[in-house]
Amino acid sequence: MQLYQNQDLKIYNSLSGKKETFTPINEGYIGMYVCGPTVYSNVHLGNVRTFMSFDIIFRYFKHLGYKVRYVRNITDAGHLENDADEGEDRIAKKARLEQIEPMEVVQMYTVDFHNTLNKFNFLPPSIEPTATGHIIEQIEIIKDILDKGFAYEINGSVYFDVLKFNETNNYGKLSGRNVEDLIHNTRALDGQSDKKNPQDFALWKKAEPQHIMRWPSPWSDGFPGWHLECTAMSTKYLGEQFDIHGGGMDLKFPHHECEIAQAEASNGVSPVNTWMHANMLTLNGQKMAKSTGNFILPNDFFTGENEHLSKPFSASVVRFFMLQAHYRSILDFSNDALLASEKGFNKLMDTINILPKLQVSNITTFDVEAWKTNCYNAMNDDFNTPILIAELFSAVKFINQVKDGKASVTQKDLEVLTKVIHDFVFDVLGLQNVDSCNDDGSEKLSDAVEVLIKMRAEARANKDFALSDKIRDELLAVGIQLKDGKDGTTFSTN
Ligand code: AMP
Ligand code: ZN
Repeated sequence: MQLYQNQDLKIYNSLSGKKETFTPINEGYIGMYVCGPTVYSNVHLGNVRTFMSFDIIFRYFKHLGYKVRYVRNITDAGHLENDADEGEDRIAKKARLEQIEPMEVVQMYTVDFHNTLNKFNFLPPSIEPTATGHIIEQIEIIKDILDKGFAYEINGSVYFDVLKFNETNNYGKLSGRNVEDLIHNTRALDGQSDKKNPQDFALWKKAEPQHIMRWPSPWSDGFPGWHLECTAMSTKYLGEQFDIHGGGMDLKFPHHECEIAQAEASNGVSPVNTWMHANMLTLNGQKMAKSTGNFILPNDFFTGENEHLSKPFSASVVRFFMLQAHYRSILDFSNDALLASEKGFNKLMDTINILPKLQVSNITTFDVEAWKTNCYNAMNDDFNTPILIAELFSAVKFINQVKDGKASVTQKDLEVLTKVIHDFVFDVLGLQNVDSCNDDGSEKLSDAVEVLIKMRAEARANKDFALSDKIRDELLAVGIQLKDGKDGTTFSTN
């Protein structure tokens, strides 16, 4: 018997605009696809928020006992500067500016992406496919869509025919737009484009002579349109119909709308049962985005060196801050909110640390079973992490009352309490407690940190600042802060 068999999990489906009871296509198994990053620059905290929302969802599914195939791609070709199929490829542009190979850009920022997510304690997806690794699959889908009459070739490029598709299908059903409004609101083609209609989107684009990221195809040497990679990779690894597709809210249109159109045109069926969209992280009330310069890089939290931060913060505190908002709500970043989260996080960890030392008695003055049900109900209600955290704090209050002799708990209830707290705090929310070792463990931790402090001093003496900074930053990422003073380096945990 798996936990999921007793739970009524409801998920908000962007396609229906409602919370729906979640039933996977194959009992016990879940297929989930999430659009990954375009690896042309460092991920910012906004990107981290969206991926974190899906990390929590993945973790909760696993906790419930589902076997999950979680596919999160890497976009390493085809994403142009502008969503209307115009401009340079983002990766090729970066390569041109830096005078390096496009694949060097891809490698550099894929590594950065993985390092960042590791610091925030993300679980790796089951498959992480790349767009360039699936050019053949993308070409096959284009052939299929052409054969079915939903696309046209012109001057070596292939475009999806939105008006033709809309005669038999419903283009715009996810984003709530209709083709008439789109026609009305889209500016007319400027004569430069080969498209029949401005709503059409590229499946394949012929490469201009200077465009270096190119592959042979039946139509031209060129490259696939951005939306196509996700259709190719989700179909390949999860099938023509799968359970969940996610991404940031800003991908709903045109990216996800176009994915639906491509899959329906090619396979004749709607590809996804539940569409999930995570909301944006804002800074000063504006969306965090690289293009506007309104962003914070994750590493800045570990050093505290950023105009928006008063001090360094550990990865778990930043994680905790983000989980205090529901994934479908906008979250505005502020240093004050982060300081408040740090207080709350420390209180939670301090309480977890006293659990093994609590005195037990023969009655419990707290309804542990009802509280446990409330924790599951919070997550079953569209992954409501803020409500879950509020529930965890009602346990924190009770545990501290027991410690102060104002409440009591039996051995059995203490075991349940401890297990449920550990399950939710560490396994589901993915928080980390660096102080949770026993006394012997803390001593060992302290010895190990001293070894690293020594290595860092040696690296500095050898002017290997890359290594010395790495030691400092990686320790900070796990909540250990080094402080350089005139008597040497000390450390503190938070
Ligand atoms: P990109 O690399 O631009 O394709 O973005 C990767 C993911 O981050 C996408 O799912 C975006 O929707 C998401 N994203 C971008 N900006 C933000 C933001 N400010 N807050 C939350 N998610 C974001
Ligand atoms: Zn995608």
